[in-house]
Amino acid sequence: MRISLKEAGTLLQEAQNIVITAHVNPDGDAIGSSLGVMHYLHDLGKRVRVIIDDDILSNFSFLNACDIIEKPRIAENGEKESIDLLLVLDTNIERVGKVADAFLPAQILNIDHHVTNDLSCPAVYLDPDSAATAEIIYQLLREMNAEITKDIAMAVYTGLATDTGFFRFPNTTPFTMRAAADLLERGAEPGIISEAVEAKPFARVVGMAKAVEATELFFDGRIAGIFLDQHSTEALDSTEGLIDALRVIEGTDVSLLLKWKEENVFRVSMRSKKTNVSKVAVSFSGGGHERAAGCTLKMSFSEAKRTILEALEKAMEK
Ligand code: 5GP
Ligand code: MN
Repeated sequence: MRISLKEAGTLLQEAQNIVITAHVNPDGDAIGSSLGVMHYLHDLGKRVRVIIDDDILSNFSFLNACDIIEKPRIAENGEKESIDLLLVLDTNIERVGKVADAFLPAQILNIDHHVTNDLSCPAVYLDPDSAATAEIIYQLLREMNAEITKDIAMAVYTGLATDTGFFRFPNTTPFTMRAAADLLERGAEPGIISEAVEAKPFARVVGMAKAVEATELFFDGRIAGIFLDQHSTEALDSTEGLIDALRVIEGTDVSLLLKWKEENVFRVSMRSKKTNVSKVAVSFSGGGHERAAGCTLKMSFSEAKRTILEALEKAMEK
C-alpha cells in the first residue's frame, strides 16, 4: 500500500531497532541513501544497522561509516532476529538478496523511486518523479525537521549526484538542484565526492578501453552494445561506468551492456535517450527507469545477445 512521506516518517520515529537495506549491486544512490538515513536515526539514539547482501565498491569508502555496512548472516538454527522495522531503499523487497531471509516477516517500510516498483510491500513511499531515492530521503529529513549534518549531506549528495550522472540526466529537476545546493551549504563536498566516485584503478581504465574497442552498432547505429562473455567479464575487475562510455556516440538511442554472471546467466544494463528501456527490462522480469534499466537473462551467451537485441529493436520500432 502506498503511504505518505509523513506516514513514512512516523514509522521511522516509532521504531527503535531498525535495519536499513538496499538492492544488491548497490550503487551510489543505494549506499548514499542508506548511510544518510542511518546517520540521522543514529543521531536520534536508535539502534540502526545497514545490511546489504553484496560487496561495497571501495569508491564509497570515503563516506563516513561506510565500513559499518554488514552482509546478512543467517543463524545456523534458522532463527530470525526480531527487529522493529526493515527499511528497504531504492528497490522493492525482491532485490535485497538474503536480507529478506534474515529478517522477514519483519515490518517493512519501502522507499523507492523506481517506476517498476510493484508496491508489494505493505508500506511503500514511491515517487517515480524523484531523481534518486536520496532525493526522497532529503525530503523525508526535511519533513522530520532533521538536523542535516555534514555526514548526512555527503551521503545524500552522493546519491543525488550518482543517479543524475552528476546533474546531467533528464531526471534532474529544479528540486534536485535546490536539494543539492542545500546539501552543499550543509557541508557536502562535490569535488571530493566526484573524484572518489569516479576513481578507477589503472588496469580497469585500460580494460575498459579494450571493452569499448569491441563496441558493436546495430539497427542503423541506434543501438550501441558491449557483450562480455565469461572470459571478457573475468578480465575486468568491474564494469562500473563502462556503459556510460557508449552514451556519447552520436546517433545512438540505446546503450547496452551484457555481461556474464554465472553459467548461462547474463546481466543486462540499458541506458537510453528516447526508448523506454524499463519496459524491455520488465518483460524479462527486471526493472528500473525509462532511461536506465536492467535485467537478468538465463540462457547462453549468443542467445542472450540475440534476445535482448530483438526485444530492443521491437521496442524501438514503435
Ligand atoms: P544498472 O544498469 O546500473 O544495473 O541499473 C539501471 C537501473 O535499473 C537501476 O535503477 C537499477 O536499480 C535498475 N535495475 C537493474 N537491474 C534490475 C533488475 O534486475 N531488476 C530491477 N527491478 N531493477 C533493476
Ligand atoms: Mn536510485
